[in-house]
Amino acid sequence: MNTDCLFCKIVAGDIPAKRVHEDELCLAFPDINPQAPTHLLIIPKEHIASQAKAMAEHKLLLGHLMATAAELARTHKLDKGYRVVTNTGDDGGQTVHHLHLHLLGGRPMGWPPG
Ligand code: 5GP
Ligand code: ZN
Repeated sequence: MNTDCLFCKIVAGDIPAKRVHEDELCLAFPDINPQAPTHLLIIPKEHIASQAKAMAEHKLLLGHLMATAAELARTHKLDKGYRVVTNTGDDGGQTVHHLHLHLLGGRPMGWPPG
């Protein structure tokens, strides 16, 4: 737990979020400023600042996050496709410095991303 971290506070329950999925390793909840009809954030309970800080010891956890995104895409019926995004660092557009996957779906996505 990083006491200055918004997503650690959500994990701890100090900031409310609708928990659409929770298990021993991760938590998923809707983004407060959705960019698509379905926009969920999937975060590890452990504080990892960004994808840039992911190490070999996190391999199982990272796979678990991706598998959870796939499961949530199925339960949210994103049958036509979806996008999973991990913004990383300043150039990546990261604003919350606790690793998270965005699961976006329910509309066609453009490419390249902005
Ligand atoms: P990033 O910009 O770091 O890739 O993504 C952070 C995301 O967190 C943004 O899409 C933003 O809307 C979302 N966010 C920021 N504060 C909160 C909050 O308090 N609750 C929820 N549910 N989402 C938040
Ligand atoms: Zn954190």
